[in-house]
Amino acid sequence: MTTDVIAIDGPAASGKSTVAAGLAERLRIPYINTGSMYRAITLAAMRRGVSAANCTEAALAPVLERLQLDYVRNDAGHFVLRMDGHETDAALRSAEVAALVSPVAALPNVRAWLRERQRALAAAGRLVMEGRDIGTEIFPDARFKFFLTATPEERARRRLAQSGENFDGATLESVAAAIAERDRIDSTRTVAPLRPAADAVLVDSTGLEVDEVVNLLARKVME
Ligand code: C5P
Repeated sequence: MTTDVIAIDGPAASGKSTVAAGLAERLRIPYINTGSMYRAITLAAMRRGVSAANCTEAALAPVLERLQLDYVRNDAGHFVLRMDGHETDAALRSAEVAALVSPVAALPNVRAWLRERQRALAAAGRLVMEGRDIGTEIFPDARFKFFLTATPEERARRRLAQSGENFDGATLESVAAAIAERDRIDSTRTVAPLRPAADAVLVDSTGLEVDEVVNLLARKVME
């Protein structure tokens, strides 16, 4: 059996979100960014006093118990993330959330909570889902799997140029270090570490324009 999901995984700032959104648009199907879900949990936890010093399953349990996280379709047919009934905002992209999200995402109860919700989303029909473990854990039977990479230098350059996650005083070196630390935690955690699925198509986007990567993926899907 296969699930009608196009899974796109890869390390931080590999261009996954832009490519996933572009591919979904091209195929006229919805797109789900699972990183935003981990960021929303992290923001909710921070608001309840969780920090790097007390980031444990026990500290997250009451956060998960109260948090309402939904992807709902807007008028344009796109899925938008709602946190406790409100659309999420730029706060998910803050330096504080970026610094805490990988430790939060390493907690087994956090991953189990999201796994269930992410799997339920595929019941709505064909979609593109992007993250770190979509092809390995969430939908090991996804119809298409891609693993997107780029060199660390290119990823740091892209992230710095992107308005979405720009912090005051950020330099190429500081951005590269933050990305490397996130990748280190994401790929060494016990539950669902970041790694390509054995049957994923590896795509190195270094030096490629977004459109070229989207074309490449779209061709594979249409074949
Ligand atoms: O994709 P984004 O950079 O927004 O993801 C933020 C963080 O969420 C990642 O660094 C990772 O710790 C976590 N994440 C994850 N599994 C996913 C998506 C994101 O662990 N499927």
